[in-house]
Amino acid sequence: TTLALDMIDDAVERLRDWQGALREQFPIIASNPHLAYLDSAATTQKPQAVLDTVTHYLTTSNANTGRGGYPWANSTTVRLEQAAELVKGFLGDPRPESSTVEFVSGASQGLRAVAMDWLADRLADGDEIIVPFADHKANLEPWLEVRGRLLRRGTRITVHPLPVEEESGDYDYDALAALVNDRTRFAAVTHVHHVYGGDMGVARIRSILGPDIPICLDAAQSAGRMPLSMAELDVDFAVFSGHKTMALPGVGAVWARNRRGPEFVAGGWRGTPNTTGIVSLEAALNWLSAAGLPDVHRWTVMLAARLAGRLAELGDVELLGCRQCPRENIVTFRHRRLHAGELGSILAANGIMVRADEQLHPSPGGAVRVSLHIYNTPEEVERLVAVLGRT
Ligand code: PLP
Repeated sequence: TTLALDMIDDAVERLRDWQGALREQFPIIASNPHLAYLDSAATTQKPQAVLDTVTHYLTTSNANTGRGGYPWANSTTVRLEQAAELVKGFLGDPRPESSTVEFVSGASQGLRAVAMDWLADRLADGDEIIVPFADHKANLEPWLEVRGRLLRRGTRITVHPLPVEEESGDYDYDALAALVNDRTRFAAVTHVHHVYGGDMGVARIRSILGPDIPICLDAAQSAGRMPLSMAELDVDFAVFSGHKTMALPGVGAVWARNRRGPEFVAGGWRGTPNTTGIVSLEAALNWLSAAGLPDVHRWTVMLAARLAGRLAELGDVELLGCRQCPRENIVTFRHRRLHAGELGSILAANGIMVRADEQLHPSPGGAVRVSLHIYNTPEEVERLVAVLGRT
């Protein structure tokens, strides 16, 4: 472990100046050096460039889209169309000419849109779908609702849980292979788990399912922190939230490969979209691409690895999940003596912001989740470890 930590430190040192310059671009971070925001899985902070772009849009050319033939309305419409194309590029879409991007309010609404506006109309009696039962509820409830809606119409489908290995927090790929049959019509998967922090092996799931079963990817915890490639992941839908990718809250995107039949309109309606949110998303994705997502990824993975290594040295801390899968930016643990809520208060009193409660994980006393992004530093990780060490 010591050697591994040394290697991580060397790599962190190499990116240090680059990271420092990026960190300074987050006003809320730069102006609060006494605080440590370690809850980016809940929502990310916003760089100045995003704030500036939003202010500029609202103070120079704000209008509704699709109405009025005047310059502000036209430029807003063009901007939204450009933003959709930008999302495709950001997702590494290999065939942007045949895919669609719909703006929604966030990942929750996006997943529900895929369920209600696409999947529900395409299932027949006896069909089967596979969905994750141990992931974020936003990626479970809509699929269960599809079953309920169909049942009311007299159509009975089977919803299989995509099995998760309790111990490791990884999907159980062998159990998945045993579930797939010629009635399997759809699978929902998560890219990075919001509690365990592991990369859930989406390419492996595709190879088990074969080429024809549509897969919907919940990329809420991977988008904006690692490069994404729809070509490599080979999924049919991808959904993410703007507020977790450094844009404003209230905007998200649903990407759909090959429209697959009648045009897919997420949300099933077209009203006034969140233009300001979409403008902020465009600015955020541009900012992240310019920062360099491969290094953003490297930095957050290294910080998380370092944190996991340091926590493993503390006797009272038990790391949860992510034993075999590659760890991304999230480290979740329980404390053997203290309730998560209590620990969360102690950390908050020391200026450290994490998620700490009982809903996160069923372990006794709940769990604490630390999630890292590009503005976080090794010093913040050490501060957290120091507080835990003396608690
Ligand atoms: N999926 C995952 C994995 C998440 O972590 C979250 C949010 O925490 C969501 C979906 C829902 O995202 P939102 O609340 O932005 O709709």
